[in-house]
Amino acid sequence: MDDLSRFAIHTITTKPWPFETAVEKYAQAGIRGVSVWKESIAHIKPKDARALLDAQGLATVSMVRGGFFVSPDPKVREGRIKDNLDLIRASAELGAPHIVLVCGADPKVPLRVAWDQVRQGLESILPEAERTGVGLAIEPLHPMYADARAAVNTIRHANDLCAAIGHPMLGVAVDVYHVWWDPELEVEIARCGAMGRIFAFHVCDWRTPTVDFLNDRGLMGEGCIDIPYIRDLVERAGFSGFVEVEIFSDRLWAMDQDEFLGNIGKAFKEYV
Ligand code: ZN
Repeated sequence: MDDLSRFAIHTITTKPWPFETAVEKYAQAGIRGVSVWKESIAHIKPKDARALLDAQGLATVSMVRGGFFVSPDPKVREGRIKDNLDLIRASAELGAPHIVLVCGADPKVPLRVAWDQVRQGLESILPEAERTGVGLAIEPLHPMYADARAAVNTIRHANDLCAAIGHPMLGVAVDVYHVWWDPELEVEIARCGAMGRIFAFHVCDWRTPTVDFLNDRGLMGEGCIDIPYIRDLVERAGFSGFVEVEIFSDRLWAMDQDEFLGNIGKAFKEYV
């Protein structure tokens, strides 16, 4: 597929570049949309980040990331709610249609309790999401993160939360890295689409062996994920938004980032 009209990228993908450099390079590379990691714009106001994106004709795809609702300490949980409310307001200023949420997990909190804490967290920030028009996209993470990062690990679980809470501002971010292994992928992506809940689609690849749980994601085509198949599933389920390249990789961050961005463009055309 070499249609670049839906080619988007996460700022974390070229982490060594400051935001200002990244947006210029992205526009030159034919990228159309950007998901902004909050750390990448910590030194400027969200509205100034928005102006930089606008100046390059780049759409703001999402703010990344909020959530982290789970903790054994109620004070910490309260603090995280406040952080999420602040992030919702910053996202509105940035012009981001939604925030990607990593729901949180903690080895000291049993999973069943974590699930309740996630639901309570979502319910406490949804009114602000509604007031500001910023959607909340639950990103189910691969089960290897169920101990300390995310207690929501499948699209089915994310769909169940959406159905149970029943709020139109709540949806799902489908990231191939986290869900490619799931035998229920086809049926749950269809269900997610039928509910109108597919808010985002992220791509990268799964390397064998994966040498680091967090920072060894592959460039599309370097691993075993059938990305065109999953893209087809989300599109047949009605998704027509951006296809976002989101790669965390110590190996690729160590490369010349201009060369890396060139490789991303080629891989997008060939393997996405
Ligand atoms: Zn993602």
